[in-house]
Amino acid sequence: MVELIPSQDAVMQILKRTGAFREGHFVYPNGKHSPHYFQMPLAFRYYDTARVLAVALSRKFRLEKDISSQLPKVSVISPSSGGIPVAFGVRDALNAEQIYWAEQENGKRMFRQYVNQGEINPCIIVDDIIRSGNAIEETVELVKSLGARIIGCGAIVQFDTAPDEIEGVPIKSLNNFDVRMYENDQSCTECKDNVKTEHVRF
Ligand SMILES: [Zn+2]
Repeated sequence: MVELIPSQDAVMQILKRTGAFREGHFVYPNGKHSPHYFQMPLAFRYYDTARVLAVALSRKFRLEKDISSQLPKVSVISPSSGGIPVAFGVRDALNAEQIYWAEQENGKRMFRQYVNQGEINPCIIVDDIIRSGNAIEETVELVKSLGARIIGCGAIVQFDTAPDEIEGVPIKSLNNFDVRMYENDQSCTECKDNVKTEHVRF
C-alpha cells in the first residue's frame, strides 16, 4: 500500500491558504527583517487542515522501524503550546499511548509539577515549526533527564537553519524552508523596495 505524503509545495499551499505562511515585509522584535512570517496556529485552527498535516507527519514517523516497532508504547511530546495540536494529531494517527507538553517556567523548559513522576515511554518530539532548533534541544535534555529515550523528532515546517538531526535522530518535516532573514534594514531588500513593514510580536 502506498502511503500518501503531500509534497512540500502542497504543504505550503495549505499554509498560505490558512494564513499560517505570510509574505510581505516583517520586522522582528530582535530587529531582523524578513519577507516571510509563519503563524502556524492559523493552519491548526481548522480541523481538516490540522488533520491532513498531522497525519502526513505521522506517516514519516511510521516509516521508521525504531518507531513502528515500539507502538503503541510511545510518548508524543511537544516543546511548547504551539506543538500541542500537532502532538494530539500525530498521537491519534499513530495510536500512541501518551502525550506530554513542556512549558517555559522562569526561563526553563519544564513539565508541570507531578507530570514528570510517572513512566515516560520512548519519545517522539513534535513541534509546529523548527527555527533554530533550541526548543527541540531543550526538550531533548528535559526528556533525557527523566530517563526516557528519544526515538523520533519532527515538525510541519523546518527552517534550513535548523539542525538535520538531534542525538542521532533525524528531524522529519513536511517542508524544508529556505529562510531569508536580514540582520537589519540596511541589508533588507524589501526596505530598498519601500515595501510597507509589519511588526511581529514573536
Ligand atoms: Zn526591511
